[in-house]
Amino acid sequence: MPLKELAARRNILHRKSDAQTVLRHALDDVQIGKIALVSSFGAESVVLLHMVAQIAKDTPVIFLDTEMLFPETLTYQREVAAALGLSDVRVVTPNRNAVLTEDVDGLLHQADTDACCDLRKTRPLADALECFDGWIRGRKQFQGGKRADLPLFEKDGRKIKINPLANWTAQDLQAYIAKHDLPRHPLVAKGYPSVGCMPCTTRVSDHEDQRAGRWRGKDKTECGIHFGSPQTAASVVTAE
Ligand code: SF4
Repeated sequence: MPLKELAARRNILHRKSDAQTVLRHALDDVQIGKIALVSSFGAESVVLLHMVAQIAKDTPVIFLDTEMLFPETLTYQREVAAALGLSDVRVVTPNRNAVLTEDVDGLLHQADTDACCDLRKTRPLADALECFDGWIRGRKQFQGGKRADLPLFEKDGRKIKINPLANWTAQDLQAYIAKHDLPRHPLVAKGYPSVGCMPCTTRVSDHEDQRAGRWRGKDKTECGIHFGSPQTAASVVTAE
């Protein structure tokens, strides 16, 4: 079945399903195939990580270490994976030769954030997802921008992308975290409601949007990984 039609059918099937049901069915869906959860282990990532761990602790979880992350994120990643018993967390880093060629001093983000995201996020993730037919993301409609009409299932190049939390509100997330007493990313309490790479993330004030601290002062709002072209492995990037 063409992927666009498959995604449309799953959206109809799950229009009234809760996130756990969407996830459970997706992980067992032979028509979708093999899928992985891609997690930034950021501010709200623990919700999906917990849901996946409740269903199957050996679900592949891809963590993209751009080598520009906050040290707190690296520690949090290890602690959350251990606490939830996730047994197949794959830490993906940028290609060493590519970094030495394209960003040897680690300052590419100052000159060209798109090129930096391509080097440190898009290409490594494309390689890591090569053996998968689909991937799960934690994006939400309430985050606005390009996410405002996010579906549960979408075709993304030759893969299916699954957004189980698409319809969730900020309050839903807080309630789930509180109900299950899940550990928060330590930077949330320090004014970072969204946590990305260290050079491209700032604190936000109370009246600001959750993602206002990401690429502050730039037009960029997403690192934007998607696999639009069948000829090229990947074309853009992602963020949670
Ligand atoms: Fe580079 Fe910033 Fe993108 Fe991280 S978020 S990969 S530091 S441009």
